[in-house]
Parts: sequence; structure tokens; C-alpha cells
Amino acid sequence: MLAGQVDIEKHGSFLTNRYLQTSDSDIYAAGDCCMVRFNPTGQPAYTPLASSAIRQGMLVAHNIFGHTHPYIGTQASSALELYGNTLATTGLTLQHALNSGLNAASVTYEGTWRPEYMPSTDALTIVLVYDRDDRRVLGAQLLSKHEITQSANAISVAIQNNNTIDDLAFVDMLFQPNFDFPFNYLNMVAQLAVDQERTEGRDEPRFTAMGYINPNNH
Ligand SMILES: Cc1cc2nc3c(=O)[nH]c(=O)nc-3n(C[C@H](O)[C@H](O)[C@H](O)COP(=O)(O)OP(=O)(O)OC[C@H]3O[C@@H](n4cnc5c(N)ncnc54)[C@H](O)[C@@H]3O)c2cc1C
Repeated sequence: MLAGQVDIEKHGSFLTNRYLQTSDSDIYAAGDCCMVRFNPTGQPAYTPLASSAIRQGMLVAHNIFGHTHPYIGTQASSALELYGNTLATTGLTLQHALNSGLNAASVTYEGTWRPEYMPSTDALTIVLVYDRDDRRVLGAQLLSKHEITQSANAISVAIQNNNTIDDLAFVDMLFQPNFDFPFNYLNMVAQLAVDQERTEGRDEPRFTAMGYINPNNH
């Protein structure tokens, strides 16, 4: 319908700016018809999801009345349930990261989601993908019979904020044995990444959050 009138990416979807305007500033685009900013690579990508569509629709409604609400991009987080297992993903897989030209590596947490001394628990696998150059978290994939989708969402926020494996290794997360270990499993998988980098002689922690500043000693 708009061929030849606005910029269209080679697969046929609209390119938009951060306020979701096409190259014709009077025409906004939202949803499956447009490219999104994929934060782990910083590049436009085609990741058609309702989670992006509904956000973009609401943002466009705001921005038509003034550019107050930029679209901050996506991690393309998604999940599915298969034979009683929950699979959740956010950001890049290792293969996707390597294909994108990133100096990426991954670690795998194989454990349970809460201690064995509790009445029940389930196996939990987490693959964490990160950038070796700047230690940014790039993605995670989680599998368990336990409900772990909100952990994928937590990693999504970490990717959005350019957090590093060092941030994730030590960020404050609740502990209560009904729910997790003294270190949450997201802390623990990030600690595996920190250990892996140390083992390979790349021990330069980077914390993006400034955190607590002691007024007497900063
Ligand atoms: C099987 C399936 C499962 C999915 N599950 C998920 C999920 O769990 N989570 C998730 O985030 N995403 C999921 N998605 C993706 C999600 O459905 C889409 O990303 C989302 O619906 C896109 O919304 P949209 O409004 O951009 O487009 P659509 O929902 O496709 O709406 C476009 C509308 O425009 C209408 N239309 C098209 N051409 C014309 C025309 N010329 N004139 C008038 N009307 C027209 C169409 O009939 C349609 O109603 C799933 C998709 C599929 C197919």
C-alpha cells in the first residue's frame, strides 16, 4: 500500500525512528509491519511479537500528540510450554550472537530452582550468553518444569540496561528457600560467566550500576 511512498526494508517492513515515524513523518508504524531495534545487537531486526506490537501501538498513540514516548527497543523475549516444561528466551542465543559478529561466549547452569532439602524441586537449565569484549549480558535461554518466565523478563531488563555479567552476578535478589537459593540462580549463572572469564585470564570486572556511594569515602 505504501510502496514507493515511505522507506521499506528489503523484506517489506517499515523502518521507523525512535518515535515510530516512518520516513514520512505523518505516517507512524507499529506492530508486525515494522522493524524494531533489537537491543542486544543495536541493529534493526524483524521480530514480530504481540509484546512489541502492543507497546508500539500505545507509544504511537502518545507520540501523535507530541514526541514524549520513545520506543526503547526489544529483547524479543518469548516463552512456550511444552509437555509440562517451560522454555523461555530473551535476547541472543550463542549462535545468533556469533552470527551477528559479536565476540560472544556462553555458560550453562545445570541445577535446581530451589534446594533439594525442600519437599520438592525441579531441574533447571539456564544458558547465559555474554559479550567477552565488554562483558554485557546478551541473552539467556531457560528450561524447567518450574515457572521461570519471570527470570527471562529479569534478564531482559538487564540486557535493556546494558548490564554486565558482573552486575548480574551480584545484583540484589531475594532469597527464601521456598523460592530459590541464597544466591538466586540468575546470580549463579552470571557467576559462572565471571569464573569462565577469570579462568581464561580476562578478569576485568565491569559494573554499570553506580550503587551505594559513601559520602565520606567516594
Ligand atoms: C500462532 C501464533 C501464535 C503467536 N503467539 C504469540 C505469543 O504468544 N506472544 C507474542 O508476543 N506474539 C505471538 N504471536 C505474534 C503476534 O500474534 C503478532 O506479533 C501480533 O498479532 C501482531 O499484531 P499486529 O497488530 O501488528 O498485526 P495483526 O495482529 O496481524 O493485525 C493486523 C490486522 O490487519 C488486518 N488487515 C490486513 N490487511 C488489511 C487491509 N488491507 N485492510 C484492512 N485490514 C487489514 C488483518 O486482518 C489483521 O486483523 C503469535 C502469532 C501466531 C501466528
